[in-house]
Amino acid sequence: MNKYETIIGLEVHAQLKTESKIFCGCSTRFGDEPNVNTCPVCAGMPGTLPVLNKRAVEYAIKMALAVDCRINSRSIFARKNYFYPDLPKGYQVSQLENPLAEHGHIVILVEGREKDIGITRIHMEEDAGKLIHSLSEGVSYVDLNRSGVPLIEIVSEPDIRSPQEASAYLRALRGILRCLNISDGNMEEGSFRCDANISLRPYGQPEFGVRSEIKNLNSFRNVQKALEYEVSRQTDMLLDREEMVQETRLFDPDKGITVSMRGKEEAHDYRYYPDPDLVPLVVDEQWIMSLRRELPELPVARINRFIRDYEIPAEDAQLITSERDLADFFERTVDLYAEPKKISNWIMTELLRELNQAGITVKEAVIRPEHLAALVKMVDDQVISTKIAKNIFAEVFSKGTDPEKLVKDKGLLQISDQSELERIVDEVIEANPDEVQKYRGGRKKLMSFFVGQVMKKTKGQANPGLVNQILKDRLD
Ligand code: ADP
Ligand code: MG
Ligand code: ZN
Repeated sequence: MNKYETIIGLEVHAQLKTESKIFCGCSTRFGDEPNVNTCPVCAGMPGTLPVLNKRAVEYAIKMALAVDCRINSRSIFARKNYFYPDLPKGYQVSQLENPLAEHGHIVILVEGREKDIGITRIHMEEDAGKLIHSLSEGVSYVDLNRSGVPLIEIVSEPDIRSPQEASAYLRALRGILRCLNISDGNMEEGSFRCDANISLRPYGQPEFGVRSEIKNLNSFRNVQKALEYEVSRQTDMLLDREEMVQETRLFDPDKGITVSMRGKEEAHDYRYYPDPDLVPLVVDEQWIMSLRRELPELPVARINRFIRDYEIPAEDAQLITSERDLADFFERTVDLYAEPKKISNWIMTELLRELNQAGITVKEAVIRPEHLAALVKMVDDQVISTKIAKNIFAEVFSKGTDPEKLVKDKGLLQISDQSELERIVDEVIEANPDEVQKYRGGRKKLMSFFVGQVMKKTKGQANPGLVNQILKDRLD
């Protein structure tokens, strides 16, 4: 039995999906030629003045409201001073003592159970530029397109107790960001970044242990892997009674380990002070109220409604609501044909598989809820077999063909004609005397062989229920 309890707190940076940057009018577009989306403000020229982007504040407030934070009516932008080539000003505008929002919480789902994780604070800041190191040329380039892109930093309380919970927390946060349509939440592209703080303590000890902060986590998988590694590394250290130091560690995804990067830096190392170029951010109650009214139904509420109203399992509800568009697709399909569990099965298997293969979202796909509803209904009405339905799904998905038309044009109607099926069954029995003998001698498992033969002859169109029944009549 492990004697140490794992304590984790996460700091997440999410890029806000505004058109322009946080303090200037430059575009935030991703993937443009280096340094085209820059101006004297975001390039850090002396004498320029920042002007706060209202939309960025709006998005930050929406996120804060969605996780039940208290919005501070007055927050302060501060300069966090440090030198780095991708930061021409020599400081990053952030918030320290008076953040935009505090004291929130979020519900996460771990193995079907709900757990509450506290949100310490959400503050606004600007992103830095990017360094591109060219090994072949032996030089480094600076791209300032990202400099000044609005970010929110979401800091959790140390309430997370396992790598698995950390992963669930990140998914929950990302789900909300996407549902609000304020961030792409893409870890691989860097629009959703996470630093993970982790420490261990003996069970029952009230004080926390010494933590390390892990950086360079660019996928959900890596977060979980890095934390698992860190649990075992820290466990070994504690068991060996080695002295722990607070430090920042880097995750090496190739080796699956973390390595020490530097001792922990403190807030005072950055000489934070209020930015004299930016007035305090004052948010009035009226604005907060109107933004609160605009909030959509959030993922956890939607999951619970799906479980309650559609009576689908929690895992189905969780998966389907992980993308707002997918959940919308599900609901519109169920509106057309009220078989929620069957529809969720089709979405979780066939639809998600095709979407993954095509690398697109359901919004970009040509398949419509009408198509899926018709397909499921045809199977229920025994117009086509499940096998045929699955066979034609790929075409419905890729071309948006009406499945009813497809079935007619291709002559795929299920064969439910008793005498025709009897004739085919008799053919199969006649052609396989050995198997018939074995079956009658007690090898009842051969039933599936006979069914398979009939399906082969009918190209999967035979009504399986009828086939089974006729075979039993003939063989037993
Ligand atoms: P800093 O600003 O120096 O990074 P904070 O006190 O703001 O430090 O904490 C940052 C994150 O670390 C928070 O998410 C917090 O929950 C988490 N944290 C703080 N102490 C611990 C600890 N002992 N073990 C694990 N996580 C911790
Ligand atoms: Mg930190
Ligand atoms: Zn600019």
